Amino acid sequence: MAGINITPSTNDPPLVLIIEDDRTTRLLLRRAMEKEGYRVAEASDGEQGLANYTRLKPDIVLIDAMMPVMDGFTCCRHLQAFGGGELPEATIFARTPVLMITSLDDPESVDRAFEVGASDFVTKPIHWAVLRQRVRRLIQQSQLYRQLEAANRELQRLATLDALTKVANRRRFDEFFQREWRRMMREQAPLSLILCDVDFFKAYNDTYGHQAGDDCLQLVAAAICEAVKRPGDLVARYGGEEFAVILPRTDAIGAVVVAEEIRTKVAGLQIAHNSSTVKNFVTLSLGVACTVPSPDSSCEQLLEQADKALYEAKAGGRDRVQLL
Ligand SMILES: [Mg+2]
Repeated sequence: MAGINITPSTNDPPLVLIIEDDRTTRLLLRRAMEKEGYRVAEASDGEQGLANYTRLKPDIVLIDAMMPVMDGFTCCRHLQAFGGGELPEATIFARTPVLMITSLDDPESVDRAFEVGASDFVTKPIHWAVLRQRVRRLIQQSQLYRQLEAANRELQRLATLDALTKVANRRRFDEFFQREWRRMMREQAPLSLILCDVDFFKAYNDTYGHQAGDDCLQLVAAAICEAVKRPGDLVARYGGEEFAVILPRTDAIGAVVVAEEIRTKVAGLQIAHNSSTVKNFVTLSLGVACTVPSPDSSCEQLLEQADKALYEAKAGGRDRVQLL
């Protein structure tokens, strides 16, 4: 798919963490895994295993059920709990497969293994071909999961972007605007909105062609982004040649400063526009509105207000900022 680039985070072979108290078995497991081309780390009990897991972030865990200090079941339960964080990595981390090694004469431990979150099991004495196949399959599955998660995140990101200008699209604007409206209402803080419109853009397209029009919009969008510096603000393409900027926790004076900065940056691009009647380069008209959201008002009202301000900026001669 164009634009979606999914690559593994590392080209190293997968890392297998072996948690096993019996020294001989541990050594045999290590050799079997190294023969498969994997990297190997070891731990001799559950506690050490947890420490190594957190430190090394292995691709798969092989864990013996019966161990001193902390047995395999308890350790496995702890391993699952690591996935509870909020970082995207945590969801991947949670899916690190765990292969439990149980005793053949203890069928109940198989149930327990799955209860505590193991992905699969092998029995002792170890059938090496079975172990190899299960490890390989579990690693492949978890790599696929990671790729799917990464692809999903990328798709979600693309679904909120305007394809031409790479700023937020209208859908993202609507979501963000409503969310910030509610948030500013809770915090009783001002929310500002700037609407920016390229002056005589239709004439620009007629004069220079649609390709030049697209190029112009890309440059304008980039200049707006440069002027809007805080990570909590949002720049969106609102319509054809219209952009919107949402500034949470910003009063009217602050918003006018940002709007002036945008106007100056775009004018500073000096994009030739000979059919403009205000300047011989591309300029913006900007409408600014600000309010502290309350249950008696609505975000649509703020939008109308900014739109009215923009209209006044146009009527007042363009290439200017108008606050309402
Ligand atoms: Mg043991």
